[in-house]
Amino acid sequence: MSLRTSLLLRQVSARLPGLPAAMQRLYSLDVAAPLLRTQGYLGGRWVSAGSEFPVLDPATGQELARVADCGPAEAKRAVDAAYEAFQSWKQVTAKERSVLLRKWFDLMTLHKDDLAKLITFECGKPLRESLGEISYSASFMEWFSEEARRVYGDIVPSPARDRKILLLKQPVGVASIITPWNFPSAMITRKVGAALAAGCTVVVKPAEDTPLSALALAELAEQAGIPAGVFNVVPCSREKTPAVGKVLCTDPLVAKISFTGSTATGKILLKMAADTVKKASMELGGHAPFIVFDSADIDEAVKGAMASKFRNSGQTCVCSNRFLVQSGVYERFLDRLGRAMDEELRIGHGSEPETTQGPLINARAAEKVSQQISDAVSRGAKVLRGGNRLHGSFMEPTLLSDVTAEMLCTREETFGPLVPVLRFNTEDEALAVANASNVGLAGYFYSQDLAQIWRVAEALEVGIVGVNEGLLSTPEATFGGVKQSGLGREGSKYGIEEYLDVKYMCLGGLRP
Ligand code: NAD
Repeated sequence: MSLRTSLLLRQVSARLPGLPAAMQRLYSLDVAAPLLRTQGYLGGRWVSAGSEFPVLDPATGQELARVADCGPAEAKRAVDAAYEAFQSWKQVTAKERSVLLRKWFDLMTLHKDDLAKLITFECGKPLRESLGEISYSASFMEWFSEEARRVYGDIVPSPARDRKILLLKQPVGVASIITPWNFPSAMITRKVGAALAAGCTVVVKPAEDTPLSALALAELAEQAGIPAGVFNVVPCSREKTPAVGKVLCTDPLVAKISFTGSTATGKILLKMAADTVKKASMELGGHAPFIVFDSADIDEAVKGAMASKFRNSGQTCVCSNRFLVQSGVYERFLDRLGRAMDEELRIGHGSEPETTQGPLINARAAEKVSQQISDAVSRGAKVLRGGNRLHGSFMEPTLLSDVTAEMLCTREETFGPLVPVLRFNTEDEALAVANASNVGLAGYFYSQDLAQIWRVAEALEVGIVGVNEGLLSTPEATFGGVKQSGLGREGSKYGIEEYLDVKYMCLGGLRP
């Protein structure tokens, strides 16, 4: 028996009903035992919670594991542990914190294959994309291990000769971190890397659908030597989420809340955090426009559209959601995009090497996409590709033409593999449609006209703009939105600032 097999902790199998025969096979999650953790991680200890909740493979509906269903008591214990650990973690030198984060990065890289499998099985993402997520996720540990040593304060010229003005940067304290299922690993490290680098300690509540990736990160944190209480994970079911969320957003020992998820949930958490005036970072929903001007290189635009729309089956907050194409290239763009969809997209279980389109996270998500398609068709849109809901939560990649700004799909975030294409005539018209939204996370446009590139990049009401590029995320750049897409920025040199207070120290009585 190989070491690998002997470490196999859990094996699940299932068949995918309703898919082509070629895809019918057994699917098994085979992960090195220490990485498949199912208890909460509080104060450096693995703890049970009296009850458990199931984690399902969204492709098959099969149960992958049962995870400790933490409640408010465990959340409070985690906050207390984080508060106690903060007293010593903030004294650890930046260099030592940097070394520990770097070790965590190295371990994530070492275990990337198993970490990617966990993502594929609990969130449905194709394995190639899951590997990409782990590399992206680990890159925040690497980036913030470097940034930890670059937190500089200021010495400011004083107006008085007997005083010095110093601006000190200090960690804010305990941060509550609440994350979504669509990037089960990267949405945690983008926050935690910055928080720990700054000297904060954290309590993470992962999404109920994807706790395994969060718990695997805790295992690697422990192996890296992150001290007990600095990184805590409180997994819980959908039922217990509001009570756990309440502790994380209202406990007086928590200084900061950082959330990624829907705008509706973000508003609930902000309201709860208001009573104790906590700092808040909010990465919320998007509704990205993707604009193709007449001057665009159409092949590049199609490439960008494929990349920005179909990643994670359309379930990313920066996925293009509304396609606006100028009249002169409208038919050509539709034709080439349709052909690219035929050639490149393959539906299946995420662990199949040829799969590019896994399931949506649940049947409710597929139903939402279906409803948007029916609404668009009932108002005159034409289905050029797909249009159908398959079994379970699988959805056909769908291309719609003749879409108008009144249709549901152009008014709300889809979070699925739907490409609704509107026609426009002038730049002003495109900008008016693109900016007619109460959210503004990402936006994309394709143009070869330099003056237009400046005009449109400045005029789009978004926090992230891709010019002739469909894939933008990287730890070196800021991530975050305007309007109701959120507050604050993650990644880049600005990400760490979200976890720091600036203290003005006036050193007086200095006789000249
Ligand atoms: P969601 O808001 O339903 O859930 C996100 C997290 O909030 C989960 O952990 C969930 O358990 C938790 N939650 C829900 N109600 C809560 C409560 N009352 N108290 C405490 N926690 C609570 O969002 P989702 O469906 O998981 O994710 C999809 C949404 O996230 C989309 O709108 C997408 O655009 C957005 N998103 C944004 C970004 C970004 O960086 N801006 C990144 C990924 C996803």
